[in-house]
Amino acid sequence: MALALYRKYRPATFAEVVGQDHVTDPLRTALAAGRVNHAYLFSGPRGCGKTSSARILARSLNCAQGPTPDPCGECDSCVSLAPEGGGSVDVVELDAASHGGVDDTRELRDRAFFAPAQSRYRIFIIDEAHMVTTQGFNALLKIVEEPPEHLIFVFATTEPDKVLTTIRSRTHHYPFRLMPPGVMRDLVERICRDEGVQVEPAVFPLVIRAGGGSARDTLSVLDQLLAGAGPEGVTYERAVALLGVTDVALIDDMVDALAAGDGAAVYGTVDRLVEAGHDPRRFGSDLLDRLRDLVLLNSVPDAAQRGLVDAAGDELARMQTQAEQLGAATLSRFAEIVHTGLSEMRGATAPRLLLELLCARMLLPTASDSEVALLQRLERVESRMTIAPGEGAPAGQAAPAAAPSTAAPVADGDARPKRVFQRPHERAAQEAAQQAEAPARPAPAAAEQPVAAERPVTPPKAAAPAPATPPPAAEQAPPPAAEPRPVAAEPRPAAAPAAEAAAPAQAGFDAAKVRQVWAKVLQAVATRNRPTQALLLNAAVQDLSGDNTLVLSMPTSGLVKQLAQQRRLDFVRDALREVVGGEWEIQCVEAGAAPPPAARPAAPKQPVQRRSTQQSESAPTNGQSANPQAGQAANGRNPARPQAGSPARQGSVPRPPEPDDIPPPPEPPDDEPPPPDDVPPPPEPPRPPEPVSDDEEDPEKMLAESSPMDANAQVGPDPETAAVELFERELGARRIDG
Ligand SMILES: [Zn+2]
Repeated sequence: MALALYRKYRPATFAEVVGQDHVTDPLRTALAAGRVNHAYLFSGPRGCGKTSSARILARSLNCAQGPTPDPCGECDSCVSLAPEGGGSVDVVELDAASHGGVDDTRELRDRAFFAPAQSRYRIFIIDEAHMVTTQGFNALLKIVEEPPEHLIFVFATTEPDKVLTTIRSRTHHYPFRLMPPGVMRDLVERICRDEGVQVEPAVFPLVIRAGGGSARDTLSVLDQLLAGAGPEGVTYERAVALLGVTDVALIDDMVDALAAGDGAAVYGTVDRLVEAGHDPRRFGSDLLDRLRDLVLLNSVPDAAQRGLVDAAGDELARMQTQAEQLGAATLSRFAEIVHTGLSEMRGATAPRLLLELLCARMLLPTASDSEVALLQRLERVESRMTIAPGEGAPAGQAAPAAAPSTAAPVADGDARPKRVFQRPHERAAQEAAQQAEAPARPAPAAAEQPVAAERPVTPPKAAAPAPATPPPAAEQAPPPAAEPRPVAAEPRPAAAPAAEAAAPAQAGFDAAKVRQVWAKVLQAVATRNRPTQALLLNAAVQDLSGDNTLVLSMPTSGLVKQLAQQRRLDFVRDALREVVGGEWEIQCVEAGAAPPPAARPAAPKQPVQRRSTQQSESAPTNGQSANPQAGQAANGRNPARPQAGSPARQGSVPRPPEPDDIPPPPEPPDDEPPPPDDVPPPPEPPRPPEPVSDDEEDPEKMLAESSPMDANAQVGPDPETAAVELFERELGARRIDG
């Protein structure tokens, strides 16, 4: 059996210890001067030579010609204490990891009083000294404090802080360190020469990086590579495959593609690395290493000569070209993006997606600081494009989405750079679509413009999601109705005269895709309201119905109520709008409960509780006829907005204003004392809400149904009772006060 490299090349004297000169030099000096302490503490990371040095110290002390920094290697002691020697009775090694108890140290203490059998000193080497128990240390304390003349302790530990202070204070402390790559490389190359194995120079950085600065780990890795080396020696390909690091060629391809802004090549590289079985996270961190090298090369042209960048000749030439191509600003921006992306990737279930999003961010043109807002909007559109039009969306759908977003700025005469990011194929598709739909499209767009122009901040967002809807629906009619939706969201209910709000603003999304961006949504919520974000940590994205009603499930009904507060829902809605754009409805359900019937895909607009509230309220409404459509629209679209005095609200919900704002907990109506719970109202009023059928989504039908009910309702008690009753029955609400 071959001896492991790290044992075969274990140093036998301090002169052979590599990379720990700051420790070995003073030790050698002290030995030469005969200044021997009775206790030493060697600390440092694992595999950097602590135990080896402790043995060398013992050898140096006990050499027949010692104490000497250079043991003769010929006397009995030197032979027995050589790395492969048989050991000496006077040098005792104790592994505290397994023998750190009080009994072991007591035994050690008792043995310590005997004089050495053959040598000058009895030397106790206590490895993993931090594992010695407190009682164990206490048993040793006395003898370490006042040791006999012949006794020397050497403690070796990775955690000097855990060594009892009273012990530590009686030692000479020598901190060992990880080995710098340059020193390690010399060592590794020398060993390869000694072993007579051919190793490609590009392999050395891989080995050294894998070893992480620990000589033992590095030699173990090298050992494995040498063991598997064929007649041609250790090749780069084999080392890459065995060590699982990213092939430098992939990194080169990625950087070149990024420099050229070639999206196809970037995503092709991602595909290749996933195909090859590489871990996207590992690739990300290797890419970050490369970017770091490029940043250094860019600002320090002779970084390689200075030893700041470790790269072989041709590799270095390639990197220098890349550094020039990319430029300092782009490089540091890339590095920041990758760094942030890496922390997002930790624990992610879809690291490939995150890597692709990360590439998407890097592919965006650089923006100056003054345009951070613009960059953010671009990124939002970008992430939306990367996710949304993936598999399902037909090409035609993506094209119209892009078309108005560029058309809009032209129309409203805004000169700001509205060039929303587009991939080449989308641009082509857009031109095709514009030519094809030239007659049909401008009309709706123009109708939309006044509103868009008034709120210059929203156009890209507003234009992008909304137009995505027309194609699936009818061609001309819907657009004017649907498009005002996002734009008019908060500010102008009046601008939504005909809006039925059924437009699926999130076309192409499903629950899975929402889950993928959920972390970002949570971040966005956190910037608005911490408690809501904390509450949302309990929520799970259960479903996405009707394209824009997001069903969130919470573990308990109490949490459902918490989250269902309009204020909180607004935060979530805003966050969703920021992250993916579009308008959203949020519905909270208790986990495990089936989503309420209204959440079926056919009923896109409203959570069920809202619907029933509205129903029961609309029953007695007499102001209904005033502007029913606007009322419905405003409510359906944006129930949260407390646009108090607006006609919209008056239209449908004249009497009890509270239920509209805070759906689940029933606020007692204030204008008259509510009837006692136990008085069952006549059967009529509660009836209407029950048909939560699909066709009810149609405002006309709802209106039609509410009108006859109006007549009937006059027989019943008052509508408040009906509403309260309905809350209790449909939602399990409890009355708070009498
Ligand atoms: Zn000797």
